[in-house]
Amino acid sequence: MAYAYDDQNIFAKILRGEIPNSTVLETEHALAFHDIRPHAPVHVLVIPKGPYVNWDHFAAEASDAEIGDFTRAVAKVCAYLGLTPGEDGMGYRLLANSGPHSHQEVPHLHVHILAGRPLGPMLVQPG
Ligand code: AMP
Repeated sequence: MAYAYDDQNIFAKILRGEIPNSTVLETEHALAFHDIRPHAPVHVLVIPKGPYVNWDHFAAEASDAEIGDFTRAVAKVCAYLGLTPGEDGMGYRLLANSGPHSHQEVPHLHVHILAGRPLGPMLVQPG
């Protein structure tokens, strides 16, 4: 499978420092920043620094070091923000849209961290 990465997407521009972001945490292979249009009191995006379109692309082509660092970066953000369940945090939801049916808008892999209130059932049924 060949993955076409568009380096003009908005997260690529954030990674190059061409547009600002509100950084929460940075690791060797990942960057976490606040979503510009939050859907919950806490809404943070975690992205790999490498050029990966979606989860499938990342899983197929990222190195073990990138995958490990990115996975741990998500948990680090949750710990840093006091969300980790069992450690006084009330938990969080992770969401990674991949492809058209998911409504992915930005073609650079990102995991949404949503928290800060009871989030309700996972999906609202259409209609
Ligand atoms: P998705 O629909 O899963 O692709 O989510 C893309 C997310 O990126 C949306 O929640 C947007 O609000 C968010 N977003 C778009 N541009 C920016 C930006 N410049 N800084 C932070 N978040 C952004």
